[in-house]
Amino acid sequence: MSPALPLRPELQGRSAYGAPQLDVPVRLNTNENSWPLPAGLSEAIAAAVGAVAAGLNRYPDRDVVELRSDLAGYLGHDLSAAHIWAANGSNEILQQLLQAFGGAGRSALGFTPSYSMHPLISLSTGTSWRDGPREPDFGIDPDRAAAAVREQRPDVVFVTSPNNPTGTAVSLAVIEAVYAQTPGMVIVDEAYAEFSRPGTPSALSLLPGRDRLVVTRTMSKAFGMAGLRLGYLAGDPAVVDALQLVRLPYHLSTLTQVVARVALSYGPQLLATVQQVCAERERIVAGLPEFGLTAVPSDANFILAGGFPDAGQAWQALLDHGVLVRDVGIPGHLRITAGTAAETDAVLAGLRAVRAGHAAGRRQ
Ligand SMILES: *Cc1c(COP(=O)(O)O)cnc(C)c1O
Repeated sequence: MSPALPLRPELQGRSAYGAPQLDVPVRLNTNENSWPLPAGLSEAIAAAVGAVAAGLNRYPDRDVVELRSDLAGYLGHDLSAAHIWAANGSNEILQQLLQAFGGAGRSALGFTPSYSMHPLISLSTGTSWRDGPREPDFGIDPDRAAAAVREQRPDVVFVTSPNNPTGTAVSLAVIEAVYAQTPGMVIVDEAYAEFSRPGTPSALSLLPGRDRLVVTRTMSKAFGMAGLRLGYLAGDPAVVDALQLVRLPYHLSTLTQVVARVALSYGPQLLATVQQVCAERERIVAGLPEFGLTAVPSDANFILAGGFPDAGQAWQALLDHGVLVRDVGIPGHLRITAGTAAETDAVLAGLRAVRAGHAAGRRQ
């Protein structure tokens, strides 16, 4: 970047979010749903877009009323449209939350390693960042988390559950403990909630009586609609009102609103692949020990595999076999998205080849 540009000092020298978008046969690096869309959905989307196209001379519904009502119906928990806000991906939701509740002179805290966009969006909204503690098994201890929040006094606390990149879900006790220690906002990022193993609780059940608690969700992962860009939150209606101060007018296009509603109406069919993705996740987990690798227990559609002698080298070797995974910068670890059965086969074949190559390298 040109040193001559008068960039804000805190942005100078920083790198943008940049997961590689490579044209390879097996793309398992951004946790999308690899399964094809259910029968009839693309035709239904085309018809719905066709039906509104003639009205594109007008701005969209600024308040996104019908979609918010549909999203409330999907979430259940006695939520209504007043509790829901939607935007272009949950990243935009997070940005709006930080614009409203973070900003200059304020700080956000998250339990790292976690989603890389939490500190990046904090930075871009002028919110300073604090790291909170995670345990060696990547879980969050309620007492240590509460102590960190009490000491650091952040204005916004992020809890990602299930966590990215580790797949770790936290108990509701963690969220309750953190909430009790802060007068600030607590954002529970549940981008992967639909993949959780049975019995994993959602923070949605904690919303009643906690007006500073927000749960964010997305259609990018389980719903298989990453290309749509639709994220949303559930929280107190006063939070939704506050976000109206920072959202851009007409931020969510007519096309996005219409397509999201059609996709939601196919919810059961779209979510039918979730069980298959979870089965593929377990197949990858079961296959790792053969290669001397371990898996962090995961409630998401990916696993963090550990035990690589050199994660960067393994990442490149897998890519040479047509399999793109994610090097999240944790030494010895790579994150692998679970997709279709054929993709799991390719991952396991790739890991076998990587290990064979590594063993051959040692013998030389
Ligand atoms: C993928 C992901 C998101 C989703 O972002 P979108 O903008 O909705 O696509 C949010 N949070 C976490 C932790 C994620 O991994």
